Amino acid sequence: MDFSLSTEERQIRDTIRSFIEREVMPLEPEVLRNERAGRPGLDPSVLRELRLKAKRMGFWGINTPEEYGGAALGPVMSAIIAMETGRTFVPFSFGGSADNILYAGNEEQRRRYLIPTIEGERRSCFAITEPGAGSDARNIRTRAVRDGGDWVINGEKTFITGGSEADFVMVFAVTDPDKGADGGVTCFLVDRDMGWKSEPIPTMGQWGPAALVFENVRVPEANVLGEVGKGFELAMQWIGQGRYLIPAGAIGAAERMLQMAIDYARIRTSMGHPIADYQAIQWMIADSQVEIEAAKWLTLYAAWRVREGLDARHASSIAKLNGAVMANQVVDRVLQIHGGMGYTKELPVERWYRELRLLRIFEGTDEIQRRTIARNLIKGHARLATIGE
Ligand SMILES: Cc1cc2nc3c(=O)[nH]c(=O)nc-3n(C[C@H](O)[C@H](O)[C@H](O)COP(=O)(O)OP(=O)(O)OC[C@H]3O[C@@H](n4cnc5c(N)ncnc54)[C@H](O)[C@@H]3O)c2cc1C
Repeated sequence: MDFSLSTEERQIRDTIRSFIEREVMPLEPEVLRNERAGRPGLDPSVLRELRLKAKRMGFWGINTPEEYGGAALGPVMSAIIAMETGRTFVPFSFGGSADNILYAGNEEQRRRYLIPTIEGERRSCFAITEPGAGSDARNIRTRAVRDGGDWVINGEKTFITGGSEADFVMVFAVTDPDKGADGGVTCFLVDRDMGWKSEPIPTMGQWGPAALVFENVRVPEANVLGEVGKGFELAMQWIGQGRYLIPAGAIGAAERMLQMAIDYARIRTSMGHPIADYQAIQWMIADSQVEIEAAKWLTLYAAWRVREGLDARHASSIAKLNGAVMANQVVDRVLQIHGGMGYTKELPVERWYRELRLLRIFEGTDEIQRRTIARNLIKGHARLATIGE
């Protein structure tokens, strides 16, 4: 069993770490100032400039195939890179990527949607959740009905990330109510100018999703992504891609915050001693590192399974559940170690505290991950006591 990285992998990690430290972290005070004034953390032009800088260093399309100009670094490196970018709360991500399901498009769809998204000229959003169907995604009601050579879509989607900014949506609608999720849901690529409307939803964090309304939105047959009736599988494929990247980002944030807590505990004195001398504080530090390390290896294991072409669903659910809970426990302890300062807006800890809460909800709540893990075991899809299988 080999836990080491190759020389090239270490170099990539180190280059990305220094890029984040040198180019991205210095923007943190500006992000806090902007957000506190009710503006977006980063002006889109600053983000574009950062992405181009990274591109000049060869970091473009981390997980995008080489034929589309990407670096194709694969799932394990993508997870390691997400750990590095997770170390800052600046809303930065490398450019040159597109939703995995856009690769399911035909040549024309790839030209109109996939390639411009990779190039950063178009922005997508993914819409399955509805007011009446979140965890119960099989129960969506948005309807698409054939009319001549078109489809007409009616319905409402909610909590759609990027829904206010996107210029097209990958929307999932019922095309055969008798079949429902078992062959009766279809994915459509719908441009904003085809008529859907969005309304921002304020949240406790900076993550600003939107509600989308479809009222008799007419979509040509050419905009069906994949096959009619095969949309639910595409939706699950889209959701599946992030299952190991979410905990990876959380690991970066948790490590950065734990370091802040260790630094603070060394200098903050109480009752004549640095608080680092007190066992109560030491245990919070120790428990946090144990949980972070556990999350790291569960996450890398899930990414490794994806890389090896093995079924990664069970491992990814475990990694996502564990990583989301871990990050929330660590940020709570880090806030506690900072005492009153942790509760103020002087420090970014309270911002992380609010932001990380989302990880336990989106892309499968804690409860849904537990349900998946338990059902896999009960039905025999996954087994205990396996190593290296
Ligand atoms: C900021 C944000 C961004 C999002 N981005 C997107 C996006 O881009 N695209 C998109 O389509 N969706 C998106 N979502 C939606 C997200 O995936 C859902 O909110 C999530 O799946 C939970 O659904 P729900 O909110 O309807 O909660 P519900 O499903 O109503 O769940 C409510 C509670 O009941 C629990 N529960 C539900 N069913 C069961 C069960 N069978 N057993 C045990 N407990 C259960 C849940 O775990 C939860 O605690 C986003 C949500 C948020 C908050």
